[in-house]
Amino acid sequence: MNWQIAIDGPASAGKSTIAKILASNLGYIYVDTGAMYRTVTLAVKRAHIDYNDESKVIELLDKINIDFEPDVSGQRVFLNHDDVTEEIRSNEITNNVSQVAAYADVRTDLVERQRQLAQEANIIMDGRDIGTTVLPLAQVKIFLVASVDERAQRRYKENMAKGMTANLETLKADIALRDYKDSHRAISPLIQADDAILVDTTGHSIEEVVTEITAIIND
Ligand code: C5P
Repeated sequence: MNWQIAIDGPASAGKSTIAKILASNLGYIYVDTGAMYRTVTLAVKRAHIDYNDESKVIELLDKINIDFEPDVSGQRVFLNHDDVTEEIRSNEITNNVSQVAAYADVRTDLVERQRQLAQEANIIMDGRDIGTTVLPLAQVKIFLVASVDERAQRRYKENMAKGMTANLETLKADIALRDYKDSHRAISPLIQADDAILVDTTGHSIEEVVTEITAIIND
């Protein structure tokens, strides 16, 4: 079996930042499963389908190709060969992705694609259900958390750097609502796998967290 490292946790806990660095250090493939759910959500928007219309959303799945390509900033994401890396981070997609991600058939479809990717190489995958559902046999499982205040601050700084509008209190409320939806859905809710190691990044730099997780991987 290839090496599998699963990094799960709530929104904006630093999963993708940390996972990208670890993947680059270890020479592993990085898969951002949140980007896959976001890409499906964008496809729903582009098809003018109501996010609440489950059967229409599911009909669309067969028409959605999702590809990743590495680049200097980590990786780019493609929806049917169209580069959607920035568009999937818009507020509209962020605020509707949890609705689309709660549909059972959407999850079955994307979990299948994610397992396929894990067949191909040593992998670091981040998301909400990697350690519990997608890769239950992963050799290393990390559950990455941080306080809501700190996560909102990080998202605020990121948005400002990208020139996006941002309001700290709104971001905090959005993050808390998304966490609530992700951890209360019926299928594969966000929970720490029994054999995952909890890493709290509150008050810690990226370098400190990378060092801590590298030590866990090498243990
Ligand atoms: O990781 P990110 O915040 O980009 O994920 C966006 C959303 O995609 C999450 O809030 C969640 O609703 C969904 N998601 C999921 N399962 C995953 C990854 C993401 O349900 N493995």
